[in-house]
Amino acid sequence: MTRLTFLGTGTSTGIPLIGCGCPTCQSSDPHDKRLRASVLIETATETLLIDAGPDLRQQLLRHPVQQIDGVLLTHEHYDHIGGLDDIRPFGSIDVYAEANVLSSIQRNMPYCFAKHQYPGIPKLRLHTITTSGFTIGTTRIQPVRAMHARLAVLGFRVGKVAYLTDVKTIPEESMPLLQDLDILVLNALRHEHHIAHLSLDEAVQLANRIGARQTFFTHFSHDIGKHKIVSLILQENQFLAYDGLTLQLD
Ligand SMILES: [Zn+2]
Ligand SMILES: [Zn+2]
Ligand SMILES: [Zn+2]
Repeated sequence: MTRLTFLGTGTSTGIPLIGCGCPTCQSSDPHDKRLRASVLIETATETLLIDAGPDLRQQLLRHPVQQIDGVLLTHEHYDHIGGLDDIRPFGSIDVYAEANVLSSIQRNMPYCFAKHQYPGIPKLRLHTITTSGFTIGTTRIQPVRAMHARLAVLGFRVGKVAYLTDVKTIPEESMPLLQDLDILVLNALRHEHHIAHLSLDEAVQLANRIGARQTFFTHFSHDIGKHKIVSLILQENQFLAYDGLTLQLD
């Protein structure tokens, strides 16, 4: 059994955007309220968090978990790591990311790594990963290299689920890792082109090429439009994810 829960499906600003009067930001539909992108993956034995953005506290109050066996980080942008301090109630936490991401955390949160530490600070146990597969408890994790414009980022595959966000392109050598997926999660910022993120059209094309049984798009800006309206233009096995959506796989 694997369960995937979308804790947030918004881009770095979230939706609504502070001070914005556009129809999407003004929408009363809960599907149009999007916290910063993050997912929880629960297997029979492990609970894993992918990314820890600035809304993490609010997200884990909505979806309380007893333990987190690992935090996997896709890249060092603030909307993906800015909530790491909120893991304080868990005490020690194992964080898995590439070396450049871990050094960015050490630079931004020096108090967590100081010789004399304040009581109550989160104890981050940093684990350097590469594109090689690794294991947390009994859960096998396969990192997947992707490019966020010129920044190398990681997506993660767990069983037949893959989560890739802040992707503009996926190098050919990563494509074999994305075969035979039940669920692909892929970012789709908005309809218009963006230098570092897939647009919805580009994401649909890439999703069709990967050919997962179902694809869920995430990491939206308010320019994507209203969830209910945009959902109508997607083909039958592709969906816009929304905050709180849980998918269960056998
Ligand atoms: Zn807006
Ligand atoms: Zn990013
Ligand atoms: Zn982002």
